[in-house]
Amino acid sequence: MGVIVQKYGGTSIATPTLIKSVANRIVATRQAGHEVVVVVSAMGGHTDELVGLSREISPNPSPRELDMLMTAGERISMALLCMALIDRGFDAVSFTGSQAGIVTDAAHGKARILDIKATRIRASLESNKIAVVAGFQGVAPTSSDVTTLGRGGSDTTAVALAASLKADACEIYTDVDGIYTADPRRVATARKLSRVNYEEMLELAASGAKVLHVRAVEFARNYQVPVHVRSSFSQEQGTWVVQEDKSVEQAIIRGVAHDASEAKITLQRVPNRPSMAAKIFRALSDATINIDMIVQNVSSAGSTDVSFTVPESDLVQAESVISDVCREIDAPGYDVDPNIAKISIIGAGMKTHPGTAATMFEALGDKGINIEMISTSNIRISCIIASKDLDAALNAVHDQFALGTLGDTSLASGETLSEVSEGQLSRPSQDPASKKADKRGE
Ligand code: ASP
Ligand code: MG
Repeated sequence: MGVIVQKYGGTSIATPTLIKSVANRIVATRQAGHEVVVVVSAMGGHTDELVGLSREISPNPSPRELDMLMTAGERISMALLCMALIDRGFDAVSFTGSQAGIVTDAAHGKARILDIKATRIRASLESNKIAVVAGFQGVAPTSSDVTTLGRGGSDTTAVALAASLKADACEIYTDVDGIYTADPRRVATARKLSRVNYEEMLELAASGAKVLHVRAVEFARNYQVPVHVRSSFSQEQGTWVVQEDKSVEQAIIRGVAHDASEAKITLQRVPNRPSMAAKIFRALSDATINIDMIVQNVSSAGSTDVSFTVPESDLVQAESVISDVCREIDAPGYDVDPNIAKISIIGAGMKTHPGTAATMFEALGDKGINIEMISTSNIRISCIIASKDLDAALNAVHDQFALGTLGDTSLASGETLSEVSEGQLSRPSQDPASKKADKRGE
């Protein structure tokens, strides 16, 4: 049988007891005849602790040293897990990202994987060993320095390794049991999905679903890696993220995602002349601030309002950029609203189905919820609303599209992944650690 890559998130290996039970699961996979490569995160909370330590030393730590520090968490968990596997009579060997041949660019804290030279991993599989790889790290050949891929990057390590080893599947073990039609903590009728296609999962992850790192999904799509998101606290099937099956009718709407972490900035009375938008958004981009939605109104009396959203964490910096820009372009000023939320519906089937946007807007209108901004892609419609309305909006839209009761239309006869049955947006499992909302999907 082929190779399976298994990635265990921080909550799945947060304690020695949990590490031992993960070892049992790995052993069971081996005993079922698979070759296993494991990718681990740091034990739950460790990466945050390391970040906290660095802040106590320096407000602006050296990026190289910060990466050196951050990679330590995964070294701890990989060594402990190997000890547990060896005690169970299995040959296991741990590898740092650099030892595993994960070659990245030199952008500390947000490095991108350029290549994987998995010779040592292949050699250990050939000699019947279980390879355990430290997640979210690599090495930059230009500097020979250790790098990290950014928070949550262990998913990307796992999927990239699975692509490079041509693994049969990449299993992402977490504290939620799959991808849901909406966040089950906010929508009681949310339903676990059996499968989601890559495009939908990319839009879900980019729209606020936190179960998978966006770059991991890009890798999975680019290299056609079947990804199985599932809970390490149960044996149940989770959600498969796979290629769209063209022979099966697509669900019109797969799920509703939300993101309450953005803020809205409105520049008032921007002069209506060429290159104003260019100036505003070049200045923000030079400050590496990511913009999400942009709305420019029809002009009246020679000027127009321009609104856009930014991550709340970038708000202070964005405001300082914008106050300079206002002076430069002669706009009288700007407004900031941090109390906004984005609600998005996603589904490959909406491409060919008219009226989807109208149905979503009606659901919000019927509840008296005002839409402040709208943006669309060919498989997504997003609305900015007041954050106080978020729960009501999620439930109204989820109900309007009957997402809690519909069958999973992507599951039809002739299904090839036959054990695949339905699953982001996340359901707490029995594990007490999962009660901490901020640790979910780690
Ligand atoms: N330990 C890293 C983090 O907490 C990477 C990961 O878990 O994916 O962000
Ligand atoms: Mg994660």
